[in-house]
Amino acid sequence: MGFRIVVDRDLCQGHGTCEGEAPDLFEVGKDKQVEVLDEHPGDDQRKAAELAVKYCPTHALSIIDEA
Ligand code: SF4
Repeated sequence: MGFRIVVDRDLCQGHGTCEGEAPDLFEVGKDKQVEVLDEHPGDDQRKAAELAVKYCPTHALSIIDEA
């Protein structure tokens, strides 16, 4: 089962905590908007993605499990 990463851009404030936790998945640009580098990562990135979701200060990230 794979998963997908979703960003609520209304909540994201560009703190970059997600990039610190999962640099292969997120990048925060100069415009303070997060870019998801891989929206359908492999399971080897699951732990890093979960940490990014957990520590995002504005709760802008979610993981959606896909069948
Ligand atoms: S940690 Fe959250 S608020 Fe900060 S850039 Fe990432 S998604 Fe946006």
